[in-house]
Amino acid sequence: MDECIFCRIADGEIPAHTFYEDGDVVAFLDANPVSEGHALVVPKEHAETLPQLSGESTDAVFAAVRDAVRTMQDELDVDGVNVLQNNGEAAGQEVPHVHVHVIPRTPGDGLELAFDQDELDDETAEELVARLEG
Ligand code: 5GP
Ligand code: ZN
Repeated sequence: MDECIFCRIADGEIPAHTFYEDGDVVAFLDANPVSEGHALVVPKEHAETLPQLSGESTDAVFAAVRDAVRTMQDELDVDGVNVLQNNGEAAGQEVPHVHVHVIPRTPGDGLELAFDQDELDDETAEELVARLEG
């Protein structure tokens, strides 16, 4: 995937502000941060969305996400951290290589991750659970 921007960052072909790297994962600052310290955790394996990613890379990505959250809490002056992962255009995915946003939060940072939520009814819930159970 020569033209994939995150493969090229993972290969070191194009620069990024990387703060963590191992055999499976690279973590670097987002070029367009929504808050100070906004980072991306990216598997070195190319997969467009999460279901296509191998189990090994999935484990490595989420362990690195956990560590990034911990490090942000310890080293940056933050009060909370959002973890966000978009799959597909409808979910807001722009770069078609799996990545997890790790977003430090402080009170009054003005960032809105608000959802307009409905109330779940039992009939819908039962139907959804039956489908999700597979
Ligand atoms: P998505 O909308 O696909 O979940 O998020 C893609 C993210 O990748 C965006 O937040 C965008 O700022 C970031 N991004 C895109 N290209 C680059 C790049 O070349 N370098 C870095 N560091 N971040 C990038
Ligand atoms: Zn890629």
